[in-house]
Order: sequence, then C-alpha cells, then structure tokens
Amino acid sequence: MPIYSTTQQEIAEKIEHGSEISHWEDWRWHIRHTIQDIGTVERLLGIEFPEKKRKQLEETVERFPLRITPYYLSLIQADDYENDPVFMQAFPSEKELIVESYDMADPLAEDTDSPAACITHRYPDRVLFLVSNVCAMYCRHCTRKRKVGDVDSIPDDREIREAIAYIADHPRIRDVLLSGGDPLMLPDDRLDWILTELQAIPHVEVIRIGTRAPVVLPYRITEELAAILARHHPLWINTHFNHPREITTSSKQALARLADAGIPLGNQTVLLAGVNDCPRIMRSLMHKLVQNRVRPYYMYQCDLSEGLAHFRTPVGKGIEIIESLIGHTSGFAVPTYVIDAPGGAGKIPIMPNYLISWSTNKVVLRNYEGVISTYREPDCYLPVYCDRNCEECSLQLKLEDADESKAVGIEKLLSDYDETITLVPQDTDRIDRRNDD
Ligand SMILES: *Cc1c(COP(=O)(O)O)cnc(C)c1O
Repeated sequence: MPIYSTTQQEIAEKIEHGSEISHWEDWRWHIRHTIQDIGTVERLLGIEFPEKKRKQLEETVERFPLRITPYYLSLIQADDYENDPVFMQAFPSEKELIVESYDMADPLAEDTDSPAACITHRYPDRVLFLVSNVCAMYCRHCTRKRKVGDVDSIPDDREIREAIAYIADHPRIRDVLLSGGDPLMLPDDRLDWILTELQAIPHVEVIRIGTRAPVVLPYRITEELAAILARHHPLWINTHFNHPREITTSSKQALARLADAGIPLGNQTVLLAGVNDCPRIMRSLMHKLVQNRVRPYYMYQCDLSEGLAHFRTPVGKGIEIIESLIGHTSGFAVPTYVIDAPGGAGKIPIMPNYLISWSTNKVVLRNYEGVISTYREPDCYLPVYCDRNCEECSLQLKLEDADESKAVGIEKLLSDYDETITLVPQDTDRIDRRNDD
C-alpha cells in the first residue's frame, strides 16, 4: 500500500478538490498539474511573497520558465523554504537575471560542436543526442537553460531522423547518450522507436539515457516503461540526485524497478552553493545512492551558463568534498569530480594530489589520513618499444577488427611510435613570426 505524506494529501486536495489521492501515483496526473506560476506555488505551500519580490520572480519566469511537479513540490519543507534544497533547485531566484561578464549562453559550445540536428559530437566515439527539450521539472541550475521549454527547439521527426542518420553514417560512434530535456518525457512508443533505430545500427555498442525522472517524477518509471527499456540492452541510465532528501520511498521504488530491469544506474550530481556544498551532505547522498544500486558517476562543478552565478562554488569546495570521500568511504561511492570546460574542451577530472614526489625508482604518496608512504618501482621492467604493430607483439590483443586510431593529445606525446614532441598553440606571436619567414 502506498503511503502518502500529509503534505502530499494536502497538495493533491488543493490542486484538484475532491480528487482521488490515488492519482498521486499516475505520472500523467503530475504532468497535467505541473506548477508553472508563482501564485500557485504560494497557494500550495501556504506562503506569500512581498509584492516587489513577486514581480521580480515573475520577470525571472518570463526569461527562464518555471515548472515543478506536485510530487517534487511536496518534498519542500515550507516552514524553512528559503533554505530548502528542493525549493532552491525548483523555484526561481531573481538572481538568475544577473549575468556576470564571464557567463556564457552556451559555455560548453554544444551548438558549435553540432554537426547535425540534435547532435553534439565532441568526443571521437560517442555523441550527445538531444531527443526532447522538455522536462517534468525545470532545474534552476540547468546548463541548457537557453533551450529548455523553448517551443522553437522541440525536435521534430525530421530532425530525429537526421540525427539517427548522422550516427549511422559515422562508424566510430559506439556510444549514444540520449539527453535533452528529459528523454523519459517522450511517450513510451516514441522512445521505443528511437531506441530500436539506434540499436539497429551495427556500430552502436551502448545507449545511455540521462534523466531526472526518478528524482522529480518517479511515477514515470512504470512497469511498462521498465519492460520497454529492458528490450534495448546494453542500456545504461544516469540520473541526477543532488541531495539526500530527494531519496524517498517513491524514488527508491523507481530506482529498484530500473535496476531490476537489469539497467546499470549512475548518478550525476551538480555541486550547488546552498544546496549540497557540504562534505556531510554529499557523503550521505553517495551512501543513499549506493544503497539503492546507483553508482555515483560524476560530480560537476557548476557551469558558466547565464544566470547560475549564485549557485557556483569555488573549485576548492569540490576538492574538499572529494578529499572527504576518498579513503573515508567505499571506492564505488566516490564520483569523479569534473569541470565541463568552456569552449567545448569537455569534462576534465579534478582530484586532490596524492602523489607527493618521486625519484627514478620510488614514488612518495600520501593517503587520506595523512600517512606518507613510498612505493618502490621495479628494477626489472623492460620498456618495450611500441610501434602499434599488435600482430608482432607478445601481448595478445587479438581483436579481429582492432580498430586502430592514432594517438591524440598527451597520449601522443607519451607514445613511442609518434615523433611529436610538443603540442603548440598556433595563435602566438612566436608562431606567427615563424609562419612569416
Ligand atoms: C558528457 C558528454 C558526453 C559523455 O561523456 P562521458 O565522460 O563519456 O560520460 C558525450 N558528449 C558530450 C557532448 C558530453 O557533454
């Protein structure tokens, strides 16, 4: 038997007088009743903003739309709403209209790296495929604020087909990441169709879905949806929990249903000032995730998208959090802390330093407790010259179609077979002088 909190019963009653509380578990009911204006939030939470503040909030909502599911709203503790982590993620702040000089509309250059409709192709072997631009709830910290809710960017059939054709035309793409918007906002049959099309492409080895449905609309994870998803293995899902409070009986059920369908689950957290910028909160979140079979994947530094300045922390806060996790808790409860670097540089991992010093045959390391230790390196290791001629090598790679691609970046500098010794920025005076000669 489902158990509803008193808050949930009150909210359901205020939304639809006399409505059966049994609707609460119907995800379409939540979609029909998503809250999209300030006044309704005031009414449902029993709070009231001063006139001036309400005006500012309404202006904010004109720029960046408001949308909250009744379920997610019900997690807010109204008596201290201003500090409430759910409220802060879902409810606008007039600070969103402040644009810092270093903010960017598209900091990750996703539009620049878009060779086809709905596709961002940044890495050699995987693409981001934006299949939807709507979400059940619009996160105030969204990196794609420029796009969500914009009726002009709803991908139509032609665009979806164009994106699938692009993937089919590029044999190096082995991993397709469905994102948006929220892919799980698509109707079951459309999602099934997209997954079927992708799965039919021989070089697509895995498909991933990035979704916040388990957090903001757990009832979307129906038995039918789980059964559809289970037909498209290997399928991975990454979700987006940011605070332990979001892990509820309902979200646990949604996660269990996905895990029981054999879907490996990951979580991407965004480090947010005033929401989760605390080692104890993060540790509690990571522990709750692994208890529910979700592997923490990434912890993101907040992007430089416009209107997010009030959510950003210094990078040091993230390092402090990672320092408080590594060694202190299970290795699989520690996410990789990344900065998705501006200009399309991609995700760059950031770690505290554990390697303190080294000589020709020893490295000096420190652990999480402050113990300093040494690791003695082998005297007998014979470096083997690698010319990437795997046929002649004693190591047994033995892949029939060992798809050989040349080394890139730092990997290239480290390799034996490539003679490159420097990577040189091309836009310096020194290089210009060389080119002039
Ligand atoms: C994050 C991202 C991916 C996936 O990166 P992983 O590190 O493999 O999770 C792929 N493409 C784009 C454009 C991305 O932003």
